[in-house]
Amino acid sequence: MSTGLLTIDLDAVAANWRALAVMAGPGCATGAVVKADGYGTGAGPVAARLAREGAREFFVAVAEEGAAVRAAVGPDARVFVMAGHMAGDAGLLAGAGLVPVLNSPAQFARHRAALPGEDFALHLDTGLNRLGIEPEDWEAGAAEMLAAGPSLLMSHLACADEPGHPANAAQLALFHRMTDGAGVPRSLAATGGILLGRAYHFDLTRPGIGLYGAEPYGAGRPAVRLSLPVIQTRPVAVGETVGYGCSWRAERPSVIATVAAGYADGLHRVLAGRLRLWAGDVACPAVGRVSMDLITVDVTDLAEVPEALDVIGPHQTVDQLAAAAGTIGYELLTQLGRRYARAYAEAPGRAGSAVPAMAGAEVGP
Ligand SMILES: *Cc1c(COP(=O)(O)O)cnc(C)c1O
Repeated sequence: MSTGLLTIDLDAVAANWRALAVMAGPGCATGAVVKADGYGTGAGPVAARLAREGAREFFVAVAEEGAAVRAAVGPDARVFVMAGHMAGDAGLLAGAGLVPVLNSPAQFARHRAALPGEDFALHLDTGLNRLGIEPEDWEAGAAEMLAAGPSLLMSHLACADEPGHPANAAQLALFHRMTDGAGVPRSLAATGGILLGRAYHFDLTRPGIGLYGAEPYGAGRPAVRLSLPVIQTRPVAVGETVGYGCSWRAERPSVIATVAAGYADGLHRVLAGRLRLWAGDVACPAVGRVSMDLITVDVTDLAEVPEALDVIGPHQTVDQLAAAAGTIGYELLTQLGRRYARAYAEAPGRAGSAVPAMAGAEVGP
């Protein structure tokens, strides 16, 4: 095999989901956000495992992502579409039984006209100013929208990964003002919001990144490993250079291993000079430029060159690699290349046990 191998530890994903569910506490359900193909790891296998674990609410970004998740989770779980109901989406939404999270009075009108009587949720903007119904529109339209029977009212925090940021309390207070007494289940917290404490949990939480044990839930179990096969190994004499631009020059007799991944696989050029790969417990610096499909690694100090080197693993987490690339775990994960072979590790016979269900969760679309 000449592509990298991305291994997703579904037991770790499940353990992280359960730990986040315990934090949310009794009376609060825990959903799962599997947009962007499950943050690059594969929405189908992740959603299927979490459905077995007891998750009943799944979230995708756009309707086009919903069908694969529906197929993975079966007919009973709810699959919410956070882009809401866009023109032309009715067939997709109805076909896969997706619940649009309506973001504006216009989307509400469109949904009621195209799919009257079909389930929907509402996103209320409490300050992120990205998606959701504005407070003034809500004041004017709440009575009509609530009368139509939404199954969920949600909002999203701008600064949940900064616990001390005053925007958190301000958004929480506004969410209360907009939704108290509505009699509809509510959801405010993604991973960061779960860590802010019970006041932010309401009836349903929506963790995404935390499922992979990445920041802001760095205390979680790492769930991703990425191994790159060594295609070729060569000796390089003192003074010889390696790679495009001749940017690295050997200062000692060296051994260079060329591994099968590059910037086309989400290992960005900016990593040049800051990237390490691991042979078991030994770190090996990448040298020279990152090419489209290849990275060159100084393995001079290894007694034996293994068949593959780890770039994400026990010694280099998603967050550490992201930091080296000047980005965050979210971006690193979602840019993981389509070329990697994806393997899903799971102990046989693992199945979920009971977790609190959200009120009304059994009411399918
Ligand atoms: C992406 C997203 C989430 C999940 O966020 P994480 O930080 O990955 O847990 C939840 N809600 C909304 C509206 C989102 O866009």
